Amino acid sequence: MSALVSERYPIPKTQFLKKDFEAHRWENVEPILLELEARSLGNAGELEQWLLDRSELDAQIAACASRFMVATACKTNDKEAEKTFLDFQTGLIPKLKPIDDRLDRRFLACPFRQELSPHDWHIYTRGTELAVELFREDNVVLEAEEEERTLEYGQITGAMMVDFQGETRTLAGMAHFAEDADRDVREQAWRTTAGRRLEDRQQLGQLFDDLIQLRQAMAQNAGYTNYREYKHLEMGRLDYQADDCLVLQDNIEKHVLPLLHEMDDARRRHLGLKILRPWDFAVDPRGASGFKPFANEQEQIAIGATLLGKVDSEFEADLYWMAEKNLLDLATRPHKRGGGFMDTFEDVRHPFIFSNSGFTHGDVETLVHEGGHAIHSLLSRHLEPVGYRMPPLEFAEVASMGMECLAMEHLEAVYPPLEAKRCVIQSLEGIVRSFAWIATIDSFQHQLYADVEMEESGRQALWLKLRERFGSRQDWSGLEEFRAWEWQRQLHLYEVPFYYVEYAIAQNGALQVWELYRQNPVETIKKYRQGLALGGAKSLGDLFSAAGLVFDPRGEKLAELMASVSQAWQKAQEED
Ligand SMILES: [Zn+2]
Repeated sequence: MSALVSERYPIPKTQFLKKDFEAHRWENVEPILLELEARSLGNAGELEQWLLDRSELDAQIAACASRFMVATACKTNDKEAEKTFLDFQTGLIPKLKPIDDRLDRRFLACPFRQELSPHDWHIYTRGTELAVELFREDNVVLEAEEEERTLEYGQITGAMMVDFQGETRTLAGMAHFAEDADRDVREQAWRTTAGRRLEDRQQLGQLFDDLIQLRQAMAQNAGYTNYREYKHLEMGRLDYQADDCLVLQDNIEKHVLPLLHEMDDARRRHLGLKILRPWDFAVDPRGASGFKPFANEQEQIAIGATLLGKVDSEFEADLYWMAEKNLLDLATRPHKRGGGFMDTFEDVRHPFIFSNSGFTHGDVETLVHEGGHAIHSLLSRHLEPVGYRMPPLEFAEVASMGMECLAMEHLEAVYPPLEAKRCVIQSLEGIVRSFAWIATIDSFQHQLYADVEMEESGRQALWLKLRERFGSRQDWSGLEEFRAWEWQRQLHLYEVPFYYVEYAIAQNGALQVWELYRQNPVETIKKYRQGLALGGAKSLGDLFSAAGLVFDPRGEKLAELMASVSQAWQKAQEED
């Protein structure tokens, strides 16, 4: 590796901690915390240094969490990795939290706090005030238990394998069959996958019941009758209310569903069908065969890098730099967690991208999406304290979904023209479809946690009602059981409750980026970079506005944005 490459994002030197500080050992961490707790703070300068020292420790601890989590995601059957992660989450973290709370209180009580620059410390302060308000010692053990239980979801689903067309495959490895031109193949693949999921429905149902009870208990401990209100605050949602989400759901129904149904109709006509079945939604309705844009990880990276490079040449260099630094693990293999994510190793401030890729354009989109997160991480790596390098999800997903929209404008650079056009149509339909799905999942959660005694039958009835309200027109006859349990495939319900509406708020922002980019690419990328460089150091309103966008948690811009999507979608059809 050349010196030049390794210096692209140099590892910051620790100022406060020893060079080889091991933050996963309590015997190392405890004395540092006690020193912070006891240190005298005689003026604003000393207070600020105290905050930065604390941040350095927090970054080391966050890096441990990330590295251990990544190890388990890459190998869900690695017992040792699992034990290390669990020891950390259930051993060190619970010991840490009460002292963290005392340090938070110390900060809030410090008279010199008023002398700190509000420009720099306002967001940190309001976050600390919220943390102190919500912290309950009783919840520490419940949070550790929740962490442990959520790992089960990954284990159960990660172990799901199917035999299909003479090969044993992961569920992610089945994705490209959903695009097969042969309807029988699609149906068989769909039934095989859904059937495999169904085998574990009772176990997954029980796990979910347990998680709901745990979560409800946490809310009550913190003085909330309902987990919904508690969790919205616990997620730091200070710039909008839980009830705004309900308005957003209504606006999605009003402005997105008509276009979704129009798209479904076109799909049905192109496929020459009377009615769509669940396996008819991923195939190209205009008859192009299942397109496999790449055959291995290197080719996938090359496509992703070219797309990022069309947006900004620095972004392409960033992705290749990550590849060289072993910061990408994309290809599918057995015992790998599903989905994709980016996480930053905060000790070195380097982003890492995980995915469980098949060989479809959707996997290219995942790489571009996570690439957007990685670039966000790199653009904001200079910020202090560490919390400012962790943008709120509503804006973090603007970076990633925005990048997907930007890349969509350049697909002809990597695919044959027909495939590029097909992928644009597919992406636009995907955006519309995702709004509808987000409304389904979000509404499901709002109602589930409003009635924590709801039984499985009630849950299924609710699910079916929401699938009617926000779903495509499709025929599930004979598949009722698959449908009733369909919600279990949504990882977020298990692992990160209420983390979903962010995608709709951010998709709204991403579509704004896309509209602006089509008018003025240079200025739009300049602003996009400016917004991303602020990390999480500002309120949502300020982050969106720095990026040249409107923060719109209630979806009031959806009518206008859907009109643009509809227009682009119509145009792509006409060119066909
Ligand atoms: Zn994302």
